[in-house]
Formats: sequence, structure tokens, C-alpha cells
Amino acid sequence: MTDPVSEWILKASQLKDPLAEVADKAENLPVKISWLLLGCALQQGIKLAELQNFLLELQKNINDVAELPAPAEDLILNAISKCELKDWNLAPQVAGIIWSVGRFARIRKNRLDLWAKNHSPSDIWRECSEIFYMGRTSALRPKILNFLHRLKIFSQMGAGALPPLPSSAGARRWLIQTKVYDPEENPKEKLRTVNSIYKELFPKKPAFACHALQFFAEPLKGNAYFCQKIFPCNACPIAEYCRWGASIST
Ligand code: SF4
Repeated sequence: MTDPVSEWILKASQLKDPLAEVADKAENLPVKISWLLLGCALQQGIKLAELQNFLLELQKNINDVAELPAPAEDLILNAISKCELKDWNLAPQVAGIIWSVGRFARIRKNRLDLWAKNHSPSDIWRECSEIFYMGRTSALRPKILNFLHRLKIFSQMGAGALPPLPSSAGARRWLIQTKVYDPEENPKEKLRTVNSIYKELFPKKPAFACHALQFFAEPLKGNAYFCQKIFPCNACPIAEYCRWGASIST
């Protein structure tokens, strides 16, 4: 018999990654990868649903992030305001990040698909740090880890080992709920801990656990959560680990 957590992870693995879902709306593979890169570069201090919504708003006016002329700042600021993201700590940098991702793709002749195929994960990891706000200040470059592991959905990469799986707000909530979270750990130790939890939860495919935990009690809208798309709270196999579900049903 499958244990409840594995059952939940397996079912969650069918739920699309929200940023990959937006990227997939673009018309061709290189453009999809640019959108994915942009989504990952913007994933800071924002909920997944808010970021997904913001990217969808941008897509109403921008087909290809790399197209010239680059998107006007006013257009970007309007999208921020329309999505009620004025208080987002990254808001002042968003235009610069969009332009930087566009430039990154143009330098690679608008063929990020070929670039990915011809570069090892460690080369991709290094090159992505050229992008504005893509992790030059953090040795672990969590946004690039996210990009590399999402990139697998769209494209092959050159030979080489992938770096550790990324953490997420949901994974952090899981660690706190299961009392594994240690605030004293440095970022490198935290990443090692979360990777060992992914392995423990789903030994055959830790990436499934990583994918699933990003949805754990991740706010969607109002009192709704992403994980309710996997199971409703009253049938949720991991309800015992979740204080949010309990608060919903009372
Ligand atoms: S109980 Fe509800 S809120 Fe909690 S993990 Fe399950 S579906 Fe999500």
C-alpha cells in the first residue's frame, strides 16, 4: 500500500509547474525558454500565484521577451499596478530584469533552446548569473537552480550533473511543520537538508517531492491554496501535517 505522503506527491506530480505553464503559452520553444527564464528571475518575495498572474498580464502585451524594441517601462509598471504588486520588493527592478533577460536571449541569437542543448548545467548555471538580479549576491543562486530544474520540462541540456534541487516556500513550510527546520543552518546547509527530505519523502524520484512541496499550503487566492487542486482538504492524505487545512474545515 502506498503511504499517504507518497500518494500525495505522486498525484501532485501531475499538477503543472505554474511558471512552466505560463512559459508554455509562448509560440515556440526558444520563446518559451525566455519566458521561463524571466519567471525564475522574478521569483523573489512573491507568491507563486501572484507571479503566474503577473506573467500572464505581461503576455497580453509581450509575445517575446527578447523582441526589440524592448517592452516600455510604462507597460511594465502598468502590469505591476494592475496585478496589485506595488509593494513587491522587486517591483523597482522588474523592468531591468525583463530587459536583461531579453538581452541575454538576443546575445544567444534568440535560440535559448540550442544554447541549452549545447551547454552543461554548470555552464548554464554560470552564464545565467549575467542576468540582472539572477543571483550574483547569493553563492547558491536559488533562482538559477529553479530555472535549471524547470528547464528539463522543455529542453535537453548538455552533459553534466544537475545541481541540487531548489527549495521553495512550500518546502520550508513542510520543514517547519515536521519540525525539521533549523533556523540556525546557513543557506548551504538548508539546501542540503531540503534535498535530503525530498529523497526521504520520495526516494525513487526526489524531484517529484520538490515539485509537490512548492504547492504545500501555497496561497492561491483568499482562503484557497494550490494544494487543494491535488486533493480537497477533507480527502487530503497529508492533512495531519497541515495547520492551514484544519483552519479551513473549522
Ligand atoms: S489539508 Fe488542505 S491546505 Fe492542507 S495540504 Fe491538504 S489540501 Fe492543502
